[in-house]
Amino acid sequence: MDASASPLEVVQLEVGLLQNFCEVIGCPRTGEAALVDPAFEVDRLLREATRRGWRVTTIFLTHTHDDHVAGLDEAAELTGATVRCHPLELAAARVHAPHVLAVTDDEWVPLGAAAVRAIYAPGHTPGCVCWFVPEPAAVITGDVLFVGSCGSAADPRAMLDTLQRRLGGLPEHARLYPGHDYGKTPTSTLAWEFAHNPALRADTLASFCAYKQIPAPR
Ligand SMILES: [Zn+2]
Ligand SMILES: [Zn+2]
Repeated sequence: MDASASPLEVVQLEVGLLQNFCEVIGCPRTGEAALVDPAFEVDRLLREATRRGWRVTTIFLTHTHDDHVAGLDEAAELTGATVRCHPLELAAARVHAPHVLAVTDDEWVPLGAAAVRAIYAPGHTPGCVCWFVPEPAAVITGDVLFVGSCGSAADPRAMLDTLQRRLGGLPEHARLYPGHDYGKTPTSTLAWEFAHNPALRADTLASFCAYKQIPAPR
């Protein structure tokens, strides 16, 4: 589909007490919008959408750890939005919201006149998804990649593949929107991360596990 025809706007907000970032993604042409990981301060996220004349129709989840879905009940109830997540996180998401649909890998999920691509990104959890906005290029990575570091790797082999192959396959000028404000700056670019982030510079399982200070799987 021609998802690049209409640009989307990504608004980043830091919420709660755990340095969480949530995003509001809007299509200025149609006014349709999505929340990503409505964890805390849902009223503030929705005010941000309303202020721009946007209506939230979709909620994207990167994964269902508590600190990413703590506000999902409230956000789903107030908006009636359809929640989109990885098939492995469906059950956990359905605890919080009535309308939850799985995405397939590389699926383009329509948002207004544009679309956002679901990129399976296992490693932190088996059902992590990074959300890629084509225009202007941006990727929302949850706890997979932070500015200057990465999230915990429950499955280091999967995590390394996600970081190197999945994120490495995206345009390097794409802006990085991490799930937490753990870096020197709130956002960066994939190009900067591949040049400077030790999690991405470690390109073998052994070096990645050494960086994470975890035992390398045999
Ligand atoms: Zn997490
Ligand atoms: Zn987190």
